[in-house]
Amino acid sequence: MAAEALPAGTTLLLRGGRPLTPSADWHAPAVADIAIAGDSIAGIAAAYGGGESPGLAVIDARDHLILPGFVNAHYHSHDVLAKGTLEEVPLESWRLYALPPQYPPRSAEEVYARTLLGALECLRSGMTTIQDMLTLYPFEERHFDAVMKAYAAVGIRVVFALQYADRKGIETIPFWKDTFPPELHPLLSTAAEPERQLDLIGHFEATRLKQPAPPRVSWALGPSAPERCSPELMQRTIELARRYDIPVYSHIYESRGMALQARLTLPDYSGLLIRRLADEGVLDPRLNFAHSVWLAQPEIELLAEHSAGVVLNPQGNLKMKCGIPPIRALQDAGVRIGLGCDNCSCSDAQNMFVAMKLFALLAAISDPQPGPPQAVAALRAATEAGADGARLGDAIGRIATGFKADLTVLDTRDPTYAPLNSAARQLVHIEAGRGVRHVIVDGRVVIRDRKLTTLDETEIYEAITAVMPGFRTDFAAIAQRVAKLQPWLDRAHRQIMAADLDLERLPFGSS
Ligand SMILES: [Zn+2]
Repeated sequence: MAAEALPAGTTLLLRGGRPLTPSADWHAPAVADIAIAGDSIAGIAAAYGGGESPGLAVIDARDHLILPGFVNAHYHSHDVLAKGTLEEVPLESWRLYALPPQYPPRSAEEVYARTLLGALECLRSGMTTIQDMLTLYPFEERHFDAVMKAYAAVGIRVVFALQYADRKGIETIPFWKDTFPPELHPLLSTAAEPERQLDLIGHFEATRLKQPAPPRVSWALGPSAPERCSPELMQRTIELARRYDIPVYSHIYESRGMALQARLTLPDYSGLLIRRLADEGVLDPRLNFAHSVWLAQPEIELLAEHSAGVVLNPQGNLKMKCGIPPIRALQDAGVRIGLGCDNCSCSDAQNMFVAMKLFALLAAISDPQPGPPQAVAALRAATEAGADGARLGDAIGRIATGFKADLTVLDTRDPTYAPLNSAARQLVHIEAGRGVRHVIVDGRVVIRDRKLTTLDETEIYEAITAVMPGFRTDFAAIAQRVAKLQPWLDRAHRQIMAADLDLERLPFGSS
C-alpha cells in the first residue's frame, strides 16, 4: 500500500495507532495515522510517508488505541477539595455540605489550586473537555479570573457556566419548611441561591457573553434546577441561550425528593417538571438535564420531541442512593445522552471509565429485557453526545478531518487489552484509566507519558497542601453545623422516602 503524502502544515503525527473514527468498527478499529496541523486534525490515512522533518513531532502510537477526548458533560470545580469527605448523606443534606453559603470567603489561591487539581484529574482520565457548572459565592471577579487563569494554564477545554437560581432551597424541598423550626431556616440555604446584590446572568452577559471567549473556553448557562428558578428566570435563560447559541445545563430529578417536589407542586402540569418547561416554551435542543433519574415516560417523550438532552452521572447517583436513570427508555426514545462525573464531594472520582462502565451495566437494570449492546453506546455518550450537547459537535467529540485535535492515546500493552477481542468492550468493562498515556488538547500534548506537560504537577500538589489546613477547618465547622440539623434532616428524609410517588394516586393523575 502506497503511503500518502503528509498534509501541508502538519505539526504532529500520530503514527500507527488504532483511532476510533466515527465510521470505524469500534470493536476492531483499523490502524491509521493521524496528521495534526496546529489545533486541528489535518488528515487520517492508512499510512503517511515521510515524517522526519524539522518542526514535525511524531508520536509512535503503535499498540495504542486513539479515542476522541472524553467530554465530562457535568462537573463542578467548586468542591474539588471535598473529595472523599462524605458517605451515607442523602442529596438534600449533602447540598448543605457542598454548597453552604456560610463558608468564609475563599482565597484566589485556593480557587486557582482546586481548579488546576480538578482539571489534572480529568485530563489523566482522558477527558479533554469539561463542563464546569461553577458556583462562586459570593461572586467575585478575582475568583472568576483565577478559574480562567487555571484553565488557560493547564490547557484543558472548558464549557463554562455559572450556577444560579432565584428561589430559596427550603421552598423547593418537600417537608423542610414544616419540619424545621423557623429559627433554623437560615441555616438551610445553599450558595446556589439568589445573591441579592448581583444579577448574575445579567452580569455574565455584559462581561462575558458579549466578548469573545478565551481560547478553549466556550460559554454556557447554568440554572441550578428548574424548581429553584422562577419561570421568568428560565425564560431569560433560554432567551440568552438562543441569542448567543450556547448550551444550558441544569439539574433535574436527581433525587426522589426532587421528583416528589414536582409531583406535589405542579398540579397544572400533572406533576411533571418537564411538561412545565415545555409549556413555558423553554425546552430546546440547547438544554442538558443532569441526572434525570426520576423522569416519567411522558417527560422522556417530551425531551425527545424537543431534542433536549440528558447528562447521566451514574456514580454519584449510586453513592447518594438517588436511584438509576431510565437509560433504556431514554435510548428507545432517541434522547441525547451525555455522561458526567458531577461533584467531587459526591461522586467522588472524575473518571469517565467508571461512568461508562456503570452506564453500560445500569442500562440492564433500567430494563432487564435483552436490549442493544451498550459498550459502543457508552463510548459515544462519553464523546459524541457530550460534544453535541455542548453545541460543539462539529468541532470536538469525533476523530475526523477538520475537527479539533482533542485525542486520548491509550497504551494497549497491558493485561486490559491482551488479547484484544473488542476495543469497545475492553475500554468500557476493563479499563479503569491506567491505559491513558498521552492526552492531546487543541493539537498540544498536555499529558505525555502520564505526566502533565503544561505545569509542574508537584507545584499543584504543593499549592493544595498549602490551602488544605484552612479548607479543613472551614469544612469541619460546616459539618458541625449540619450535625446540629441532623434530627430534622433525618425526619424530613424519612418523609420523602415514605411519600407515594405513584402518579396515578395523586389527585391530578398522570396524563
Ligand atoms: Zn451537579
